[in-house]
Amino acid sequence: VIKLSAVTKSFGPAQVLKGIDLHVNEGEVLTLIGASGSGKSTVLRIMSGLETSDGGEVWVNSVPLHDPRRAKEIRGHVGMVFQQFNLFPHLTALGNVTLALVKARKMSAADAKAKAMAALEHVGLTERAGNYPSQLSGGQQQRVAIARALAVEPAIMFFDEATSALDPELVGEVTGVMRNLASEGMTMVVVTHEMGFARQTADRLVFMDQGVIAEQGTPEEVFGNPRNDRTKQFLHRVL
Ligand code: ATP
Ligand code: MG
Repeated sequence: VIKLSAVTKSFGPAQVLKGIDLHVNEGEVLTLIGASGSGKSTVLRIMSGLETSDGGEVWVNSVPLHDPRRAKEIRGHVGMVFQQFNLFPHLTALGNVTLALVKARKMSAADAKAKAMAALEHVGLTERAGNYPSQLSGGQQQRVAIARALAVEPAIMFFDEATSALDPELVGEVTGVMRNLASEGMTMVVVTHEMGFARQTADRLVFMDQGVIAEQGTPEEVFGNPRNDRTKQFLHRVL
């Protein structure tokens, strides 16, 4: 469902992606790891239509995102979850999810509400639907953000360091929700520093280094027997 060929991207004089070849199959969980500045978020933003590539081809769900006129088509069909939850403080959990549906799907308020409740149930927050973000823990707020992304029934879910802003004891409830999604067959691309998640849940692991894919394979291959020196150094630092 995702295919990148020879994708390049520069910001000013700095080339941050130097020819990325990558594919993700339906139902697959792909995890991107690598040092800060290696280009992980840029890859994710290009795959979700938030950023356009300079060169190469990007196909997501059969939409050619390298065609700037068509990049927007993908927006309503993918879900994004970021480090920052970006919830509206003046809306309840239910209100935040409902608003996304009314805006993205032009649904009636009643239909949106029913779908939003189902999405909140999916992340285990039925009881918290009426709470405002300030009344929720960081982990619960992030689960609301996941529900908001899920509500539109995306074909693919992108996670960019979704647990990085959380206290350590709250990480588990969010990776738990992500694990459930993976086991339900959701196609997912996950940028994470959680090596536990990468090891246990990823079908494939991609290690990025200075704008290139330095190494990829199953978690067993990459963790167990890294071939690239930069991968070895990185894993040595984070494990
Ligand atoms: P991190 O782990 O810190 O999130 P990353 O692997 O996600 O890093 P990117 O955010 O993709 O890295 O950034 C790659 C490089 O591109 C960095 O050097 C960054 O400063 C630069 N960059 C990213 N976005 C922009 C932008 N909009 N304008 C200018 N430079 C940018
Ligand atoms: Mg990043």
